[in-house]
Amino acid sequence: GTEKPRLVDDEEGGVLFLTSSSSSGYGYASIEKQRQRLPVYKYRTAILYLVESHATTIVVGETGSGKTTQIPQYLKEAGWAEGGRVIACTQPRRLAVQAVASRVAEEMGVKLGEEVGYTIRFEDATNPGTTVIKFLTDGVLLREMMGDPLLTKYSVVMVDEAHERSISTDIVLGLLKKIQRRRSDLRLIISSATIEAKSMSDFFQPSSRRHRGSESVEPGLKMEPAILSVEGRGFNVQIHYLEEPVSDYVRAAVSTVLLIHDKEPFGDILVFLTGEEDIEAAVKQLTDDIQDRKISSGLIVLPLYSGLPRAEQDLIFSPTSRGKRKVVISTNIAETSLTLEGVVYLIDSGFSKQQFYNPITDIENLVVAPISQASARQRAGRAGRVRPGKCYRLYTEEYFLKEMSAQGIPEIQRSNLVSCIIQLKALGIDNILGFDWPASPSPESMIRALEILYSLEVLDDDAKLISPVGFHVAEIPLEPMISKMILSSNQLGCSEEILTISAVLSVQSIWVTGRGVRKEFDEAKMRFAAAEGDHVTFLNVYKGFLESGKSSNWCYKNYINYHAMKKVVEIREQLQRIAQRLGIDLKSCEGNLQAVRKAVTAGFFANACRLEPYSHNGMYKTLRASQEVYIHPSSVLFRVNPKWVLYQSIVSTDRRYMRNVISIEPSWLTEVAPHFYQKQGL
Ligand code: ADP
Ligand code: MG
Repeated sequence: GTEKPRLVDDEEGGVLFLTSSSSSGYGYASIEKQRQRLPVYKYRTAILYLVESHATTIVVGETGSGKTTQIPQYLKEAGWAEGGRVIACTQPRRLAVQAVASRVAEEMGVKLGEEVGYTIRFEDATNPGTTVIKFLTDGVLLREMMGDPLLTKYSVVMVDEAHERSISTDIVLGLLKKIQRRRSDLRLIISSATIEAKSMSDFFQPSSRRHRGSESVEPGLKMEPAILSVEGRGFNVQIHYLEEPVSDYVRAAVSTVLLIHDKEPFGDILVFLTGEEDIEAAVKQLTDDIQDRKISSGLIVLPLYSGLPRAEQDLIFSPTSRGKRKVVISTNIAETSLTLEGVVYLIDSGFSKQQFYNPITDIENLVVAPISQASARQRAGRAGRVRPGKCYRLYTEEYFLKEMSAQGIPEIQRSNLVSCIIQLKALGIDNILGFDWPASPSPESMIRALEILYSLEVLDDDAKLISPVGFHVAEIPLEPMISKMILSSNQLGCSEEILTISAVLSVQSIWVTGRGVRKEFDEAKMRFAAAEGDHVTFLNVYKGFLESGKSSNWCYKNYINYHAMKKVVEIREQLQRIAQRLGIDLKSCEGNLQAVRKAVTAGFFANACRLEPYSHNGMYKTLRASQEVYIHPSSVLFRVNPKWVLYQSIVSTDRRYMRNVISIEPSWLTEVAPHFYQKQGL
C-alpha cells in the first residue's frame, strides 16, 4: 500500500518536517536482498545449466527482471571468468553501458574499471589484467572483431536488448553465429524483453549447410538454442487514452504531470518524449509552471537523454526522498535499457526519434515518428514496477489501434548501410548479399552503399576493400565519410584542422541552445562564425576554448556546451593517436581554409547541394536526387545561402534541414569524386 506522508509539527524545535508511517521503501534493502528479490534469481540454476549445455541460450524477460545486471554476475560466480576469460555483455546504447556497468560494480562492491568495466567508443574503462565482466556497445564488439575475429578472450557473449534490433546488434548476431562454428567453447546468450524469441531461435537453429565446418563440437553440447522465459512480477497498469488528439504533446505532457501531482498519491512519474530538444522544453515549461503557481511543489524534474553529464545521470537512479515526487523526462532509453525504480505514473507521447533512410533519394533522416504498439506496451509496463500503476497515453485509443504498427522495423531496414558494409568487408565478409542477416536489408540500400564506398575509393571494381585506404577507413571508429575526410587531409596538409572538425562532428552539439534569449545566443555564435561555414566555425570555437584554458566560465559566456567541448578534446586526442598509427602527418594548413574545405569535400561529396536559382526562401536541391533541403537555423550559413554547399546530416521537422554546412566550389566535386559526379554534367 501507499502511505501519504504526514506533516508533523515538532513544536519544541519549531521546525516542520515530513515523515511517513512506514519506512519499507525499496531504497532500504541490502544489495544482496535486492538481488534475490529480482525475478531472474529463481532462474539462476536453470540459466547456468542451459548456458553450460547449449551453444546459444535465449532469455526473455520483462524489463527490470534482472537480465542485464544479474546474468553476467551469475556467470562469473559459476566460473565462466576463470583462466583469464572474460564475460561480455553488449548494449545498443552508450548511456546504458555506463549505467549498467556502474550498477554491477556497485553490487559486487568493486571499483568500476577493475573487475567490472565498460567500453564505449572513445572511452575505455577496463583493465585488461583484471576486468572479467565487460559491458560494451555492440558497435565496439564489432570493432574488436577486426583485431580478434574469433573474440578469443570471451567465454560468453551476452547480446542484450536484442528486441531493439539495432543495426549493430543484427550484424553482431550474424557474425557471432559464424564465430560459433569455429569456437564451440563460446557461449551466446541473447536476451530480449519481448517474446519475439521465436525468430531469434529460428535464426540460431543449426542447419546442415550452416554446420558444415563444426567438427570440433564439444561432446554433449546442444547446438539448438534453448529458450528460457523469466516470469515477471509486474503489477497491473491502468491505461488512459485521450478523448481527442492533441497537437502539442510537450504541453500535454506537462499538464498531465501537474494533474497527476495534484490528484494522485505519491509515486514517481516517467514521461517519454523524443529527444534533447523537446525534453528540455518540457523541463522548462514544468519549472515555469511550478514557479507561476508559487507552490513549493515537491516535484523534482530530471531530464534523461544521451549526452547528459554523468553527475546528472546519477540523480535519475537515486531513490526519491519521502514527500518528494520525481519526474523523469526521457527519450526511449528508459523504454527497456534502463529501469527506474519507483515509477508509478507513465506518460507516453506516442513518439520517438527514429532514423529513416531512403535509398532512392539517398537521404537519411532522423525524424520524430510514431512508436509501435509493442513499444507502447513496453512503455506502459514501466509503471507497474513497485505497485499498480497508471499509464497516460497522449493519443486516442483509435489511434493506438488503427494507426500504430504492431512491431517496429529493424534498424537495418531503415538505415544507410555505408558503415555497416565497410565493417563487414574489413572482417573479410565479401559476399554481403549472401551474409546471414537476422533481417535482410533492402537490395537498393546495399547497392547505394556500395556505390558510395566505390566513389570514396575504398572499394575496387570487385567490391573488395582497397589496400590500405579501405582498411584505414574501416579502422577509424567514425562514419566512413569522416574517416575519408581525415585520410584526405594528409595530402592536403590540414590534418590538424580536420581532426578537430572530426571530433566536433562526433559529439551531438557544441552549442547550448536551451538557455536564455535566442538573440543573445545568435550573437554569441556570430563571434565565432566563419563565412566558409560551420566546420570552420568549429575551428574558431576550439581555438577559443584552448586559449581560455578550457574554461567552463568561458563556455558559459559564449553559449558553448562545456561538457561537449571536453569530450571534443578527448576524442581529438584519440583520433590523433589513431591518425599517427595510420601514418598521417600532423600538419596545420596555417589558415589555408581552401585545403580544409577540400578535405571536407573529399569525404562528404555525396551530400552536395545547390541553391535553387531565383529561390527566395533559401531552397536547395541535392545534386544526386534533386531533393528539396534548407539550411538549418542553427547553422552559421542560415540566411547566408552560398550557392554550393555540403552538409553532414539532415534533420526533418516541417522541412528537411541540413546540419553542419560548409560552402564549396563545384569544381572540387568532379575533382574528388569523378565517378560519382560524371553523370551530373557539372
Ligand atoms: P533487465 O535487464 O531485466 O531489464 P536490470 O538487470 O537492468 O533488468 O535491472 C534489474 C534491477 O536492478 C532493476 O529493477 C533495478 O531495481 C536495479 N537497477 C538496475 N540498474 C540500476 C541502477 N543504475 N541504479 C539502481 N538500481 C538499478
Ligand atoms: Mg536490461
